[in-house]
Amino acid sequence: MEVKVDQDLCISCGLCVSSCPEIFGWNDDEKAETSGEPVEEEFEECIQEAADGCPTDAIETG
Ligand code: SF4
Repeated sequence: MEVKVDQDLCISCGLCVSSCPEIFGWNDDEKAETSGEPVEEEFEECIQEAADGCPTDAIETG
């Protein structure tokens, strides 16, 4: 699974960072970001929860 954050859509609400801190962090623009590396299966559930809960649909998975 791959996951990334659309920087134009992120409003820095913090939901993804608090629900899935192993995957999401803050960048210098104070927007959420991921490493860009493929993520391990164990994190897929919390990533999906974060993606579903993101108020601006900024989290893209594939
Ligand atoms: S949940 Fe969405 S809007 Fe909130 S910090 Fe994460 S990517 Fe940004």
